[in-house]
Amino acid sequence: MTAQIINGNDVAKEIRAELKKEIAELKEKHNLVPGLVTVLVGADPASQVYVGQKERTSENLGIYSERYDLEENTSQEELLKLIDKLNKDPKIHGILVQLPLPKHLNEEEVLYAIDPKKDVDGFHPVNVGKLMIGEPDYLPCTPHGIQQLLMRTGVETKGAEVVVVGRSNIVGKPIANIMLQKKEGANATVTICHTATKDMAFHTKRADILIVAAGKAKAITADMVKEGVVVIDVGVNQIGTTADGKRILSGDVDYDAVKEKAKAITPVPGGVGPMTITMLMMNTVRAAKVAAGLT
Ligand code: NAP
Repeated sequence: MTAQIINGNDVAKEIRAELKKEIAELKEKHNLVPGLVTVLVGADPASQVYVGQKERTSENLGIYSERYDLEENTSQEELLKLIDKLNKDPKIHGILVQLPLPKHLNEEEVLYAIDPKKDVDGFHPVNVGKLMIGEPDYLPCTPHGIQQLLMRTGVETKGAEVVVVGRSNIVGKPIANIMLQKKEGANATVTICHTATKDMAFHTKRADILIVAAGKAKAITADMVKEGVVVIDVGVNQIGTTADGKRILSGDVDYDAVKEKAKAITPVPGGVGPMTITMLMMNTVRAAKVAAGLT
């Protein structure tokens, strides 16, 4: 069996087109322009790229966008003061603080200072708790993107054995939680694996849907999956550099071998990656609608 390649770029494009239309309608009918602010502290090159992408995508879709580039030595107090100001700004519906923050800053305190209604990353404990009880305002972007990829490629999740590798707060735990909910695009039987899992292949071989977010290149090999599995590879690992200095990336799955057994699989890059920013835009639109009493 050669797998269907789940093209994240295509699905992201489809969702962005829907969002663009919705944003234009919000403006026309309700004079409402969703607003997203990104806050970057320091000059980490990868973070600058991500923030730039978020800014461009916002502008492309018609979302009002603001960006703060703060010095590396910004104090906790200064950052909290900015968050407080943004929490009160009615033009801003979503606040995104680009992680990681420089080491001297307390990341938790900063994230928890964001008004949960503007927490479009879905990381605030209020939003984590709401997801846990099945009443989320926002789903965190990467797990939300994974669910959309599955739904929009027609993968049946109800009753499926979903195995998640990784238990981080930003990917593993929330996607496991989403898949567990008694809802459309979920309602699965969920297993979570991590570094203390005794026999990982035992679990991964049972998976109808295998979601891997371990951050270890090619950790999942063909002998660890069953024929006909649907594989969502979240991992992004640099495994080398081309002669002209470009990064060579690999997912957490041995793609070439696993695609010969899988029914469907996401590539890296071009799978989950494009979905993450798109879901940030979707959350921002939702935040604006909630603030305006439109949902
Ligand atoms: P993380 O915080 O480092 O968590 C990794 C998790 O995987 C941990 O729970 C760890 O277990 C588990 N793990 C690591 N190696 C394992 C192994 N050999 N067997 C079983 N479990 C293992 O990583 P993350 O933030 O969730 O990100 C995971 C990957 O996804 C990274 O490559 C990251 O770059 C990528 N990512 C991509 C996107 C995107 O938009 N495409 C977004 C977010 C993340 P323990 O808890 O026991 O340590």
